[in-house]
Amino acid sequence: MLTLHGAGVGGGVAIGNAFVLFRDTPEVPNYVVPEAQLDAEVERFQAAIRVTRTKMRKIRKDIPPDAPSEITSFLDAHMLMLNDPVLSEDPIQTIRTEGLNAESALQRHADSLTEVFETMEDAYLRSKKTDIAQVVSRIQNELLTFGEEYDGRVPDGLDGQIVVTNDLTPSDAVALRHQKMSAFITNLGGPISHTAILARSLRIPTIVGLHGAIRYIRHRDPLIVDGHNGVIIVDPDKSTLKAYRDRQLQEQRLQTELVSLTSAAAVTSDGERISLFANIELPEDIGATKAVDAGGVGLYRTEYMYMNRAEPPGEEEQLAAYVRVVSGLQRPITIRTLDLGADKQVDGGRPGGHVTINPALGLRAVRLCLSNPALFRPQLRAILRASAHGPIEIMIPMVSSLDELDQVLDLIEEIKRELTRDGHEFNENVPVGGMIEVPAAAIAADLFARKLDFLSIGTNDLIQYTLAIDRVDDEVNYLYDPLHPSVLRLIQRVIEAGTNAEIPVSMCGEMAGDVRYTRLLLGLGLRIFSMDPTRVLEVKKTIRNSSIESVTTQTCAILAATDSTELRDLVERMNRNES
Ligand code: PEP
Ligand code: MG
Repeated sequence: MLTLHGAGVGGGVAIGNAFVLFRDTPEVPNYVVPEAQLDAEVERFQAAIRVTRTKMRKIRKDIPPDAPSEITSFLDAHMLMLNDPVLSEDPIQTIRTEGLNAESALQRHADSLTEVFETMEDAYLRSKKTDIAQVVSRIQNELLTFGEEYDGRVPDGLDGQIVVTNDLTPSDAVALRHQKMSAFITNLGGPISHTAILARSLRIPTIVGLHGAIRYIRHRDPLIVDGHNGVIIVDPDKSTLKAYRDRQLQEQRLQTELVSLTSAAAVTSDGERISLFANIELPEDIGATKAVDAGGVGLYRTEYMYMNRAEPPGEEEQLAAYVRVVSGLQRPITIRTLDLGADKQVDGGRPGGHVTINPALGLRAVRLCLSNPALFRPQLRAILRASAHGPIEIMIPMVSSLDELDQVLDLIEEIKRELTRDGHEFNENVPVGGMIEVPAAAIAADLFARKLDFLSIGTNDLIQYTLAIDRVDDEVNYLYDPLHPSVLRLIQRVIEAGTNAEIPVSMCGEMAGDVRYTRLLLGLGLRIFSMDPTRVLEVKKTIRNSSIESVTTQTCAILAATDSTELRDLVERMNRNES
């Protein structure tokens, strides 16, 4: 039994078997094999060599007759290496004498062979180390994947499995939405990354940033995943399994209790009504939104419609999607215009795309849209046309400059004229709001508020940009702090700017759906929350247990705290208080 720790993204407890999904070059696992299993480990190693040999023979046979002869000789050289006992004798010896696993024993031997080649004077012989690496990598692949091959795309048939992988792009996560995995573990990534946000919406336990996941977890290993605490137990014993099965039952009971709040009002104990909206990624998410009786959609991340396909969706396809959402829900829908770029790439950001050094500061969201009218115009036309079918609002992501905002507002007016000319119906007064997720916009929120009908605070990016922490990079994730005084001051400032301009201010970043911050946000004056539908009932429960009067007083003390320990203590104390 082995316990590993990462960053829990939520979703409770899952018990099942690992499905190790390799991406890029897998890490070589390193572990000790029990004596009784040494014969089996040697056989596993020899089987991997046999399978590699069969596959290489087939590749050689399939070479077209007119292919250059170098290709055949290159493969012949690899076959010779594979057949040479020198390659297998040493690793077998290491497995038997040191009890090392096959992958590690092979890698150690390959490294020492490479070292010998590296010292050779002759450049041709020195280059042979690449051949060794290629042959070894083929054998490793067999050992690591049990012969299951991936072409880099997400495979089908993951139902009920716990997917363990190095990293996933948001487009992979979208592709995975249709499978019923029971949990998700990644080596890399932070809990606020778009991949993690999508995983959360799958309602399955998810742990990210679990360094060594690929090294310590093997394909088909029995696992327990505790998504709340970021804990993974590999090969659990009976009593641990029982304890976690009990936890699962407890969670089910808690869930039933929350479900009973579905039709209850989101009202504080002193009578203040709070609006709770849902964040969605795809039209089918309205099912989850209805299930928790959210007041509408506060953030529709439309960019997910653009992923995993060769061509962007056209105006008619988008119109159909937006109408499906607004007619299906019959409640207000805030459609965010495209926020592609940075970690959200249409092609999943695989090699071949344009490489920028600071993608989060680059051509992303509204910047990308303004630079590419052929992408932006059909979306604006589709949203405006959909506004004839129900209460729709347009939300612009990543506004950072007033001039840029003017350009968007002018474009919307131009498109309205175009639609009138074309005889299309739309809501002439469709509200246009902006996401406040760049510190520049938060600091000057009063200026942006004058031009907009509403503001929505995107804390995921606001925190990333304020604290200069890449939300996807697990190495700096420990610094990602929603309670940083600068973040709290910016939030307060934006809420004040909206109140003074008499326009609504909502929050649609992950912070809005995290019950650890619900009272604090109420104390800062927030009255409209938008979050993943899975969070709505829990937040509602906290709201019903809070009094505005009390949280406002306590929030004043929190804002006056002079060090972070004091601040955290005050927040915890506020969260413990019953009202
Ligand atoms: C945010 O930045 O808080 C937000 C809601 O947008 P996204 O997570 O899609 O960047
Ligand atoms: Mg954002």
